[in-house]
Parts: sequence; structure tokens; C-alpha cells
Amino acid sequence: MDKFTGYTCSICGHSYGPDEVTYTCPKDGGNLDVVLDYDAIRKKYQPGDLTSRSNPQGFPSIWRYLPLLPVSAPAGEATPLHLVGGTPIYSLPRQAKKFGIKHLWLKDESRNPTASFKDRASAVVVTRAREIKAEVVVTASTGNAGAALAGMAAAVGQKAIIFAPRSAPPAKVAQLLVFGAQVILVDGSYDDAFDLTVKASQEFGWYCRNTGYNPFTVEGKKSAAFEIWEFMQNQAGAGLRANLSSETVPVNAQRLVIFVSVGDGNIISGIHKGFKDLHALGWISHLPRIIGVQAEGSAAIFNAFHAKTETITPVQANTIADSISVDFPRDGIRAVRAATETGGTYLTVSDAQILKAIAELGQAGVFAEPAGATAYAGLTAAQAQGWLEPDAPVLVMNTGSGLKDVRAAMQAVQPAPIIEPTLEALKRILP
Ligand SMILES: *Cc1c(COP(=O)(O)O)cnc(C)c1O
Ligand SMILES: [Zn+2]
Repeated sequence: MDKFTGYTCSICGHSYGPDEVTYTCPKDGGNLDVVLDYDAIRKKYQPGDLTSRSNPQGFPSIWRYLPLLPVSAPAGEATPLHLVGGTPIYSLPRQAKKFGIKHLWLKDESRNPTASFKDRASAVVVTRAREIKAEVVVTASTGNAGAALAGMAAAVGQKAIIFAPRSAPPAKVAQLLVFGAQVILVDGSYDDAFDLTVKASQEFGWYCRNTGYNPFTVEGKKSAAFEIWEFMQNQAGAGLRANLSSETVPVNAQRLVIFVSVGDGNIISGIHKGFKDLHALGWISHLPRIIGVQAEGSAAIFNAFHAKTETITPVQANTIADSISVDFPRDGIRAVRAATETGGTYLTVSDAQILKAIAELGQAGVFAEPAGATAYAGLTAAQAQGWLEPDAPVLVMNTGSGLKDVRAAMQAVQPAPIIEPTLEALKRILP
């Protein structure tokens, strides 16, 4: 584990050794960034060494990037935990045309083992938990982080406890229960569940996975950036490789633009960290622009970004997109920086726009939950504000599966007609 050299605080910049702290900065509660020994990694590996790696099973996964992850390889092989990530990137040519851009891709995180982006974080946190011999891993969750933790824990026989708000969508609660985690529904918000989880982990010595608290979640989530980087290298034929790796491309020209939906701000911080790692290694010369998309009813980070401050003021969250419904984002500061430091921005979308995006993605063959479709919904807002340039390639994240929240999906479409089983009845309803 010598590649993992410690942490720095994202607020005060203080450095800590790997064993000195577990969660946040003891001085100011700031989120900790994991620090890797970039010189040692650069000496040992070429980019091609990583991108050509695969699991013994032959399936792509986050473990391909093990030299850049602060854990050892998980023991055993071919469980769902071993096969997180490696998600497909689809081309959306008809949708690109509609937005007047040349390249539009969608990275489909619903293809992860528990059907959301959160598996990336939970796989690395559970691996860490095994390393430090934690008996119990616990998390607060609006649903997906819990399902991911429960699934990854079940995969390797680790005990998990999940606190979720009692309002979590039934499919997500069912997932938690089926994976055999101990599930506790809190009569309160996600934020209430979060605070209770931190207290309980202190009281009982449980290892806490909470988003924007445990520094290893970002380390798992950054693997999505590595996959995007690898994909872009393979686009050399389309002349796009230069976007990330050539000094000769003007900074603002044809840079990849990535759209991410944002609640706590940990996914966007993770994607930013992944590109920063690649930059620190000298493997890319430019970071892509990162654009965060929030629901209008849960826009604390959007507000801070546009007020040009890193002070995050809580909101009373209210949106159909439960996975990004957050009063007080736990990774707000780094989430603001993901946009400021990459020349990106923050946008908001209404619940109606999110539902419309679910239907539009459906027409591309992709089934997204509301928070998953939020990044795509941001394209319309981005176009209105001049953030889409015809030549700049765009990649949109779908962070979660539509099967997670069928009730919301039904609101995005017209109900199907019910007819008598006769030709006459059929003819009456055909246009
Ligand atoms: C968790 C989640 C998000 C937002 O991630 P944050 O780290 O909270 O910003 C977006 N979409 C889905 C489906 C999620 O589960
Ligand atoms: Zn600090």
C-alpha cells in the first residue's frame, strides 16, 4: 500500500498520514483528499499499462486501475464487487443532432451490479473495510448508496447496516433487504439519517461509508474519469484524442464537456479527482469541463457556485429526483471546485424537465431514474445558456436505473390504453 501516502484537508490543506485519521479533518471537519505517490506511479507505469489491464475473468472493471486506487486488490474473484464499473458509453447521434452538436455520448452507470454509480464507491469502501478488518460497515443513504453498500458487502460476506429515510422509493428499500443488510428506516430526512449514522458509528465502532465523510468514496468514484479517459483515447480516429492529451489544442477549443447530476457533490468531486490524478501523472494536459446539474428544488451547490463562494447554505430540498434531494450537501466545497477549476458551471432543471429527460432517454433505449436523467435534462439548459458548442464533444452521465423508481417513470409517460381483445376495439384507438 505504499502508493497511498496520506490525506490533505480540502479546507485547511493540512496533511495527515494514512493511519492518522479515518474520516474528515479533525481541525475543521473538511473532506480529506487521498494523496497518492504520483512519482512512484509514473516511474512504474505507462498509461497503456493500465488501459490494457483486465480482470482475470476478462471483464472490464474499476480494478483495471488498481495502481491508482488506495487499496489492495480485493481477495477472491468474480463477485459483483470484483466487476463494478467498466460501464458502456453509448453514442446518441439523433439527440446530438437535436442539440446541434457533433458528438454526444452517454455513460450508463445503471449497468453496474446494483444499478447505480454508487457501486464504484461501495466496492472500494468495502475493500478498505476488509483491509482494516472492520466488522460492520454502515451508511446513510437515500437508497442507492445503501443498495450499493448492501450489494458489495453481500458479495464478499461483510456485515452491513443501512439507514434510509422512510420515504425512500420501495424498489430501493427492497434491494437493501434482498441483499440481506440490516435496514433501519428513519422517520426523517436523508440529512437526519446521515447525522444518526455518524453518531451510531462513533458509539458502536462501526466503519462509516457516508458520502462526503469517508474519503474512500471519492477514490472509487474517480474510476469513472479513468474510463472516460480511456474511451477518449480510443476516439483518436475521430480526432478527439487531442482533447485531453495534446498541448497544441487551445485550452478552450473542443474540450470534452461532462454533465453530472449533483446532490451531495461526491460524484462530481470524484470525477474531478480522477482527472486531477491523471493530470498529476502527466497523462493528460487538460481537464475536461465539468458541468454540475442540480434539481431546482435541491440547489445548494448551484447557489454557492453562482454566488462565487465556497460557503454552502442549506436548502429545504424538494424534488422528484430522490437521489439528489439533499438539504445540506456533504461534499459541497469540492463540488463547487469541480466546476470552477475546470471551466465548467452549474445548472438547474425543474422536475418537469427531469421527467421529460426520462422520456427522451427512453427513446434512446436508456432507462434512467430521475436523478440519472438530470444530467441529460441539463443539456437543454446548457444550450439555452450557450454552453454547447457545435464542435465540443459532450458526455452525459446516467447515474442510476429507471427500475429504481418506477413510480416516477410512470409520471414521465402517457398511460397505455386498455382495450377489449377485438380488432374493432383496436381500430378505434389506432390513429
Ligand atoms: C447519489 C446519486 C447522485 C448524486 O451523487 P452525489 O454524490 O450525491 O452528488 C446522482 N444520481 C444518482 C442516481 C445517485 O444515486
Ligand atoms: Zn482541515
